[in-house]
Amino acid sequence: MKKLLCILLTFLLILTLSSCASDKAEERSFEAMDTVMHFKTYGYSYAPDVMEKLAGVLDSLLSTEDEESDIYRLNHNGSANLGADALALIKRSLSLSADLKAYFDPTVYPAVCEWGFISGDHHVPDEKRLKELAAHIDSAKVKVVGTTVTLPKDTAIDLGAVAKGYLADECRNALEVSEAPCAIWNLGGTILLYGKKPDGTDFKVGVADPENPASYFGYLTCGEGIVATSGGYERYFEEGGKRYIHILDPTTAKPVDNGTLSVTVFSQDGVLSDALSTALFVMGADKAAEYRRTRKDFDFIILTDDNKLYLSEGIYDDFSLESGYDYEMIKVQ
Ligand code: AMP
Ligand code: MG
Repeated sequence: MKKLLCILLTFLLILTLSSCASDKAEERSFEAMDTVMHFKTYGYSYAPDVMEKLAGVLDSLLSTEDEESDIYRLNHNGSANLGADALALIKRSLSLSADLKAYFDPTVYPAVCEWGFISGDHHVPDEKRLKELAAHIDSAKVKVVGTTVTLPKDTAIDLGAVAKGYLADECRNALEVSEAPCAIWNLGGTILLYGKKPDGTDFKVGVADPENPASYFGYLTCGEGIVATSGGYERYFEEGGKRYIHILDPTTAKPVDNGTLSVTVFSQDGVLSDALSTALFVMGADKAAEYRRTRKDFDFIILTDDNKLYLSEGIYDDFSLESGYDYEMIKVQ
């Protein structure tokens, strides 16, 4: 796959040399990673073709369901020799999991399956089963030797929380060798903002209203970077009048139910933005604020079900609330 990326980059470079910069944006949408991706690229008309291929390849490499994928082979054989992309993302996920401890763990996959989020056969498992599942969520037990990854018994990996962030990083690497001055690529909720817009204005990113995801409750004005959002509204089911979402607390194997509605993270690192949008969702606003005090290389926007909007200090002044939303905006130092 890394080889494939090199070929794509060379292709991109050749095309770049024959393309001419303009203020006109080319737009394209397609499906990959179970989502619709939307590409808007300025002054460069070939990048979407290349990225469409890249997203398709990453999708097949990182998917848990595609029998040809590296992750499928690993999960079904317990051990596998992996290609460069799957290996790089597993290593990165394990190191993020070591840092984020109980909040982010790629070995939640068996629990994600048990709740029916993969098959669509949703149900609430009994407490005994949940305890068994929680006992097997522990990324510290995954072993990596050279290019071989080995999982403990009854453990499986899911890179769903970081795959789009990884794709965003790969896309940015490809754009850097092109002459495209600017790109706004929505990789299904994870947004890559690259370069500078031809009219000199900053980027403006809408944050989805969890109650009506087609609308935005506000806008973040920012420079280049990667914006990732996690929300319970993206995938959930209801049983007995209660909503069960697809983001799980690794310590209990249960869907998070802590009053968080959505988490948006902005940083210069796609995998970090994506991992943190999931992890801060599990943490909740107070612990997320504490965590940010330990590192300042990201900013967040957290909406909770009591209509509070927590914004870290780095972006507080760059966020504007849409009229009609009366959220209390709280600046987190
Ligand atoms: P995201 O939409 O980026 O928040 O990713 C959510 C997806 O990551 C879920 O659909 C699961 O496949 C997986 N997942 C759920 N909870 C966790 C967690 N606590 N840590 C890591 N991955 C998770
Ligand atoms: Mg994520």
